[in-house]
Amino acid sequence: MNFQLDEEQKDIIRAAREFAEGEFPNYADDADKNETFPRALWKKGCELGFVGVFFNETYSGAGLGFFEHALIMEEFWRVDPGCGQAVLGALFGSQMIHLFGTDAQKKKCLTPVARGEAIMGSAITEPDAGSDVASVATRAELRGNVYTLNGNKMFISNGSIADYLTVLCVTHPDAENRHHRHSVLIVETDREGYEANKLKGKLGIRASDTAEVSFSNVKVPDDHIVGKPGRGFYHFMEFFNHTRAHICAQGVGVAQGAFEKAVKHVRARVQFGKYLGQFQSIQFKLAEMATRIEAARTLYWRAAWNIDHGIEDHKLVAMAKWFAGETGVYVTNEAIQIHGGYGYLGEYGVERLYRDAKIVEIYEGTKEIEKLIVARNILGKM
Ligand SMILES: Cc1cc2nc3c(=O)[nH]c(=O)nc-3n(C[C@H](O)[C@H](O)[C@H](O)COP(=O)(O)OP(=O)(O)OC[C@H]3O[C@@H](n4cnc5c(N)ncnc54)[C@H](O)[C@@H]3O)c2cc1C
Repeated sequence: MNFQLDEEQKDIIRAAREFAEGEFPNYADDADKNETFPRALWKKGCELGFVGVFFNETYSGAGLGFFEHALIMEEFWRVDPGCGQAVLGALFGSQMIHLFGTDAQKKKCLTPVARGEAIMGSAITEPDAGSDVASVATRAELRGNVYTLNGNKMFISNGSIADYLTVLCVTHPDAENRHHRHSVLIVETDREGYEANKLKGKLGIRASDTAEVSFSNVKVPDDHIVGKPGRGFYHFMEFFNHTRAHICAQGVGVAQGAFEKAVKHVRARVQFGKYLGQFQSIQFKLAEMATRIEAARTLYWRAAWNIDHGIEDHKLVAMAKWFAGETGVYVTNEAIQIHGGYGYLGEYGVERLYRDAKIVEIYEGTKEIEKLIVARNILGKM
C-alpha cells in the first residue's frame, strides 16, 4: 500500500475541511442544543458532492472509493461530529443497495440520496435485538407478491426524517439455521403503517436524528428485497464490514479535532509562570494523544483501502473500529483535562466533542462485539 495520498485525495480533504470549517459553526450550537437536524446544511453538503462519493457516476456519485468517503468523514467529524453525521449519515443504508441492489434499486435510492433529494436509514436494531443481530424478530410475510411487515425497531438513525429504510426482517422463520431466516427490504416511510418517534436527550451527535420506529401491516412489494431472500443476516455483516471503516474515521476525526484544540490551549495558557506546553507531563499527554490518533488512522486507512481493493478482512475492520472508538474517547477526555475547568464548561468546544465521541464505541457494533470478532478470527470456533 502507498501511504501517500494522491493529489485528488488531498483536494478532497481540503474541500471537506473548508466546507466543515466554513459552514458547521453556523449550525452546530443550535442543532446540539435543540436536537434539530440541520436540513439546509445537509442540502449544501449534497450540492457540493460530499454525499455518496463512492456511488457510481451513473447514480450521481463521483465513482470514488470508500477510502475517499472516509477521508471526508474524518474532516467533518474533526470540526463537529453532529453536523458531520447529519450530512453524511443521510446515506446510511445506501451501502447495502450499493453492494447488493439491482440497477433499478440503485436508480431509485442512490441517485436521490447523492442529489440531496432523499434521506436514507438502516433499521436493524430492535428493543430485544441489539448486539445479537440474528435475534431480529420484525416479520415480513409474503402473500402473492406483497410482503406484510410487522415489528418495532430501536435507535434508528434518520428514522423520523428518512424517505426510505433498508430493514432487516424475518422472511424464513422456519429455517433451521437462525442466520438463514432474514432478508433485507427497502421500505418507503410514507407507506401506511409506518410510524417514527424521535428519541430525545442523547448524550451526543444531537444534530443527527434518532428514532424508534414501528411497522404495522406495512405492505411492501417483493421487488423491494435487496440481495438474496434468506441471506439478510450475511448481507448486513458484509454491509457492516464496509460501514465500520467509516465509523473508524469518525473516531479519528473527533480525536484530531480535540487534539488540535488541546495543542492551541497549551501554547496560550500560562500557570506557575510557564506555558502549559512547557510542562513535561503535558508534553507526554500530547505525545500519547498524537500517537494513538496516528495508529487509529493507519488502521482505518488500511481497512478502507482493503475494501476498495476487494479484500475482505473482518478482523482488521473490527480492530480498527474498536481502536478508533477508544481513541476518540481517550483523546477527547485528555483534551478536557488539559483545558481544566474551561474544558468542562464547554467554552472551547471540547466538551461537545467529548460527548460526541462516545457513540463510536457503541453503534454499528459495540467495542466488545468488535473484540469478539477479532478473537473469533484468531481462535476460530471453540
Ligand atoms: C445514536 C445511535 C444511533 C444508532 N443508529 C442505529 C441505526 O441507524 N440502525 C440500527 O439498526 N441501530 C442503530 N443504533 C443501535 C446500535 O447499533 C446498538 O445500540 C448497538 O448495536 C448495541 O445494541 P444495544 O444497545 O441493544 O446493546 P446490547 O446489545 O444490549 O449490549 C449492552 C452491553 O452488553 C455488551 N454485550 C452484548 N453482548 C455481548 C457479548 N456477547 N459479549 C460481551 N459483551 C456483550 C455490549 O457490548 C454492551 O456493552 C444506534 C444507536 C445509537 C445510540
